[in-house]
Amino acid sequence: MKNRVIAGVDYESFLVQMEEFHGYRSPGMLVGALMLDRVLAAVGEAPYLNVVCETVVCLPDAVQLLTPCTIGNGFLQLLDWGKFALTGYDRQTLKGERAWLDYDRMAEYPLVRGWFERTGQRKEKPPFQQLAEEILAAAPVLIRHRPVTMLRALKKSAPVTTGPCPGCGESYPLHLGKACPSCMGEAYCRPV
Ligand SMILES: [Zn+2]
Repeated sequence: MKNRVIAGVDYESFLVQMEEFHGYRSPGMLVGALMLDRVLAAVGEAPYLNVVCETVVCLPDAVQLLTPCTIGNGFLQLLDWGKFALTGYDRQTLKGERAWLDYDRMAEYPLVRGWFERTGQRKEKPPFQQLAEEILAAAPVLIRHRPVTMLRALKKSAPVTTGPCPGCGESYPLHLGKACPSCMGEAYCRPV
């Protein structure tokens, strides 16, 4: 595994950066980085790169670590679909590449399959190193990708009209309704 480069970053450096950014060594981020590696190679020089992740776990952090696309700058969009797939595209031409995992062929890689299907559960897990080696070996088989054309640019660029909420007085996008989401019953905390 010496001198392996993933999405432009040396593998060992990537592991360190992953721990710093994500908090721990994550098999999902490694798979995400390998998917990105394929997608970026296919998209080529794309000064207007955008990425869409079809899940909110792991993949978005690989994108934010390895590309200029972040949630905050709007060039990374998240779809909460729970699908381990992502698309990189040029937001000017809307042409890109989508990568996903070949579920049928995962049976050939028991550690990868065990990790993938146990998402959310906490059973005995193989050491990261062991799983990572199988992920690296499986990547050329499991990571599928193909060119796509975006049906639309996903980044919302139209200005949003805002105004004060009659309930709390804070500014919110008026198209959401008569009051802000919190005052409409979606509050996630209360003052103490
Ligand atoms: Zn309010």
